[in-house]
Amino acid sequence: MSREQARQVLKEAQRIAVATHVSPDADAISSAIGLVQILRRLGKTAEAFCDDDLPARLKALPHAGEIARIARGPFDLLVSLDASDPGRLGKAFAELQGIPLLNIDHHITNTHFGTINWIDPSAVATSEMVLWLAEDLGVTLDAELASILLAGIVGDTMGLRTANVSARVMHEVTRLMEAGASLPALVDALFNRRPLAAIRLFGQALAEARMEDGVIWTVITREMRAASGLTHANDLSLSSFLIGAEEARIAAVFTERDDGKVEVSMRARPGYDVARVALAFGGGGHPPAAGCLLPGPLEEAIPPILRALKAAAQNSQGKTPGEP
Ligand code: AMP
Ligand code: MN
Ligand code: MN
Repeated sequence: MSREQARQVLKEAQRIAVATHVSPDADAISSAIGLVQILRRLGKTAEAFCDDDLPARLKALPHAGEIARIARGPFDLLVSLDASDPGRLGKAFAELQGIPLLNIDHHITNTHFGTINWIDPSAVATSEMVLWLAEDLGVTLDAELASILLAGIVGDTMGLRTANVSARVMHEVTRLMEAGASLPALVDALFNRRPLAAIRLFGQALAEARMEDGVIWTVITREMRAASGLTHANDLSLSSFLIGAEEARIAAVFTERDDGKVEVSMRARPGYDVARVALAFGGGGHPPAAGCLLPGPLEEAIPPILRALKAAAQNSQGKTPGEP
């Protein structure tokens, strides 16, 4: 299924509900708001949904305040963005049945749950795919739309620093900047601003990090989060920092949620694959960055994941010269 089919169904639809994944990141919110703005510019009725709270840094994006949690008709097309399986949408579409679902995503682990699926793991962000759609649908970029779409590209590439950033992506970034988006402002908002409490919690979890068989890992317990006063511990990007350890091939952070479930955030050096591990445990992601959600308690969630990650750390695809 293709980009052309996605363009076609979007062109034909009139009332469109666009939903993105729970625990939203910049790409989730950016692609959802971006597509809604594009569709509105074509004279259609479009609304964005996310069945979760938005972290403060994403609430500041234009139109983020208009995102509602649960879609209630009438709609003639549903669009899922940046979600690798329908569970990631929470209850956003739970009250709508029998409406075609267009599934647009860049996760290699996507389960193709839509009526129409456009899955492209070569895209650095779902927002990049939405940018291609803007071109295909003949919508001209203005400063606001460019800024919304650049947020997702910057978010998923860690500020244009990941291994998949190509000349193509840099050309697109240039076009978005020419249309009025500010790269420095987005990098600052998405990566350089965090509450002091988050920095302290980050330090505490770093101090506890353990290194075993090429896997560096640490835990954020409910008690640690409660003591810090932080609600969105996944904003820490701690796994992305841990994978910077020279001795590590794989990094994992286990975060205990208030409901007792355990969020696992995983990272791999180029040539290693954590998406397969995440998928085996009901989650998803990309080879270098993936996640899953496990029933608690921590003591039961951690050992099977660590076993799988240690096996993955022995399994090099041979892409990385000079690996430890
Ligand atoms: P994170 O570690 O939260 O930054 O997530 C890394 C990647 O894994 C992102 O592409 C997420 O969309 C994906 N991911 C994280 N948690 C889950 C989950 N529970 N199910 C499916 N994919 C996930
Ligand atoms: Mn995402
Ligand atoms: Mn994404």
